[in-house]
Amino acid sequence: MAEGKSRKDSKKKPPSALHVVQGVEGGHDGMPGSESKAFRPARRNNNHLTTNEYVDGILAGDRTIIGRAITLIESNARQHQEQAQELLKEILPHSGNSIRVGITGVPGAGKSTFIEALGCQLTDAGNKVAVMAVDPSSSLTKGSILGDKTRMEQLSRDPNAFIRPSPSGGTLGGVARKTRETIIVFEAAGFNVVLVETIGVGQNEITVRSMVDFFLLILIAGAGDELQGIKRGVMEIADAIIINKADGDNIKAAKLARAEYERAIHYLQPATKGWNTGVHTASAIHGDGIKEIWDIITEYRAATKASGVFDERRREQSRLWLHSMLEERIKEMFYSQPDVVSALPKIERAVMDGSLPAAQAAWEILNLLDKS
Ligand code: GDP
Repeated sequence: MAEGKSRKDSKKKPPSALHVVQGVEGGHDGMPGSESKAFRPARRNNNHLTTNEYVDGILAGDRTIIGRAITLIESNARQHQEQAQELLKEILPHSGNSIRVGITGVPGAGKSTFIEALGCQLTDAGNKVAVMAVDPSSSLTKGSILGDKTRMEQLSRDPNAFIRPSPSGGTLGGVARKTRETIIVFEAAGFNVVLVETIGVGQNEITVRSMVDFFLLILIAGAGDELQGIKRGVMEIADAIIINKADGDNIKAAKLARAEYERAIHYLQPATKGWNTGVHTASAIHGDGIKEIWDIITEYRAATKASGVFDERRREQSRLWLHSMLEERIKEMFYSQPDVVSALPKIERAVMDGSLPAAQAAWEILNLLDKS
């Protein structure tokens, strides 16, 4: 992190092309390149890019082509998926050179304020920062936790940052695939820090943990029992915990919360072999504690690279990724079998009526495969 350079210096940076691609409509209407009028007005009319053009553009760090490549990845149209896979194969050897950081916390904890503060400090220090979100609910709301342009305003104008809202994959599995593939695009394009934000609900954090090197949990001090409402499972996968909003009247409460979480974490298995999860206070809004967190992430990377844990985790993540892709494809293939499509409604009704046990119904459907 560059020292002594305040964010104010960089406020004068000229606004670059719009980096926040609004919504994700372009991603699932089957039209790569249709994502934003403001982003690229001149090149909309279906002008198809060859895979080589995508590859060259990504490797050259061309923002327009990076955006289009992500839209291609997000498209559910078969020919786009085929081209996206071709493209990914080409750029894969150029990927991997970033630190991937997952960031979670309940809405309001200060994730976007923190990402803005961290991201701006990092770009000031010469890094290229990509920010993504994993928010499967965005397909319902047609928006995204990162789709709102008022969030991360400064970072979104920074030419060395690229903010991408959550793809609307429909399912967490779909969103996860698209996010993983987008990480590869960003890395091949030279982004050396990838931040993946997720809202602290349900299965999201576990999924994001499976695609990042370092996982950060942002909490705030609240009244009463500090541990209430925090799922133990999330603390177990965190490599660092931040008690945010440690400012003004809240400093004392934040320090107390830190002590309490430190005690709690003491009894948990480390999220990463050989690494002790620490609890820290920060004030994202004032930029306090941000540099310290980055120092911790840097130290973590050095320590886990030296011990081999870093690469081992990435290899394991790739293996698990293969299996989740397999599961997805098998499911798709199964549910598109004509025999299954025609038999399913009747069998479903029988299960709903209580005339057929669900387990037996499942076997009956699976047996159709043998016959087809
Ligand atoms: P997110 O939903 O987790 O992304 O949270 P936001 O970053 O949108 O922050 C939620 C609210 O908390 C906003 O009004 C922020 O201005 C405020 N906030 C964020 N960080 C801090 C902080 O460090 N101190 C204080 N006092 N407020 C903060």
